[in-house]
Amino acid sequence: MNTPQQTSAAPRRGDGQSVAVVYGRLRRDILNGTLAPGTELAQARLAQELGVSRTPLREALRMLSRDGLVEGEPHRSLRVTGISPAEMDQHWALRVGLETIAIRVAVPLLTLQDFAALEGDLAQMDYLGERGDFEAWDLAHRAFHQHLVMPAGDEIVRTIGEMIDRGARYRRMWTYVRHGATSPLVAGKHRSIVEACTARDADAAATANADHIAGVAYELLEAVDPAFRPVLLATAVAIAQTPVSSESPRADTPANV
Ligand SMILES: [Zn+2]
Repeated sequence: MNTPQQTSAAPRRGDGQSVAVVYGRLRRDILNGTLAPGTELAQARLAQELGVSRTPLREALRMLSRDGLVEGEPHRSLRVTGISPAEMDQHWALRVGLETIAIRVAVPLLTLQDFAALEGDLAQMDYLGERGDFEAWDLAHRAFHQHLVMPAGDEIVRTIGEMIDRGARYRRMWTYVRHGATSPLVAGKHRSIVEACTARDADAAATANADHIAGVAYELLEAVDPAFRPVLLATAVAIAQTPVSSESPRADTPANV
């Protein structure tokens, strides 16, 4: 009955509709910088500006807080979460670390079905990138990074999806730093990851994936704080670039774990 709608074309009526509309609008404003980091979100004023009651506004703010876009006391003062280079460093180091483990395990096990899904994601990203539809591109991009590691297991695939969701703001900022050019710049990187997977070269796939993530990260950190040194990310990338001997214990031989 209350099944969430897949598109914004036919939202639910009543408060549910208001929550979706308010959440979508505030999320967009935070991601594109209209609501700058640190901006105070006074609920009475926001409710008036958006023409909604406090109940759907509170729910929308709770969802934004879950996304990491809003911080503070729910019933008191809330503000747009600040951008911290240290948090960005941690975020990307975690992504490189987890995806490196997952991709090394997944590369020998990817199926024809997984490769077909990856090709579909690449084609979708090309199409949506050309149209400048960032939100839909972001969903195809999330699916791509999940399809790369499908054989690594549901928990890992789910966690990578959540991490990518939390990084939406950083990716959006990056497209602004890059003057809106999303697809052409990363399409070549994504293609080279798939080529390494197709060649069943786990070291090359891990390296290409880490270089892709770190490339975006370094560029954005440079724009946010040129003096900051992302030590965690540099360490994660160095680990990703280190070849793993084929003599190493494999996922299917846990005797040494
Ligand atoms: Zn990517």
